[in-house]
Amino acid sequence: MAERELALVLHDIAPETWEDYRPFVEAVDALGSIPMTWLVVPDFHHRSATFEDPALQSILESRLARGDELALHGYYHCDDAPPPRTPREWFMRRIYTYEGEFYSLDRQQAQQRLEAGIELFHQRNWPLHGFVAPAWLLSSGARDALRDLPLSYTSDPQHLYRLPDFSAIRAPSLVWSARSRWRRGMSLVVNETARWRHRHQPLLRLGLHPVDMRHQMSRRYWLDTLRRLLDAGYMPTTKADWLKRQAGSGNDEYASVHGRS
Ligand SMILES: [Zn+2]
Repeated sequence: MAERELALVLHDIAPETWEDYRPFVEAVDALGSIPMTWLVVPDFHHRSATFEDPALQSILESRLARGDELALHGYYHCDDAPPPRTPREWFMRRIYTYEGEFYSLDRQQAQQRLEAGIELFHQRNWPLHGFVAPAWLLSSGARDALRDLPLSYTSDPQHLYRLPDFSAIRAPSLVWSARSRWRRGMSLVVNETARWRHRHQPLLRLGLHPVDMRHQMSRRYWLDTLRRLLDAGYMPTTKADWLKRQAGSGNDEYASVHGRS
């Protein structure tokens, strides 16, 4: 079987979520040298500012030094736009998620927030390649803004997209919905099915959220799944490193024909 890789991705990194992740990260580190991609939120819900927290910044800097990737994940993460006006908007912004920060921004608003986030990374000299929208939701204005910024990729649950042209590369994710007991039960089945269905994909992403860390069932699932994938020969990588290695490999071309599902 061709080489398969996995990307362990920690969503919603901010001072207030670090305590949820800490024991998990320690457990992963104990397995060996496993690079992770940290999705950093500059000011989570306007109340937890990563770039004003020296302790978290020094943790993130030590992660960079060991080969991890830091990516930009929204600015505030929550959706502060005026109330939804149409049924579809209402569904997307109140039922599907409250976290679609970039779902209703126009181009100028999106650009301002993206530039503010990029500037914070630059001030710390943190290399930045990727932007991941909260809840993976991008307005068309936000898509346009992304074409003009010094970023090399964005993503949704099934694809990575190279910027500025949004060329799609298939890279499915396992993701939990750990908010309630029934969602956790469903997630176990859905994710095990997805892991099997995507077993021939060259890159499998594991998308972790802070709430997953608060429930034993989901926390254990992630650690067990990571161990199982490593035992099955998956090589751990960051998203940015994987993308760099794909350039010219032919996978991009494949995705442009078959990637949309
Ligand atoms: Zn998020």
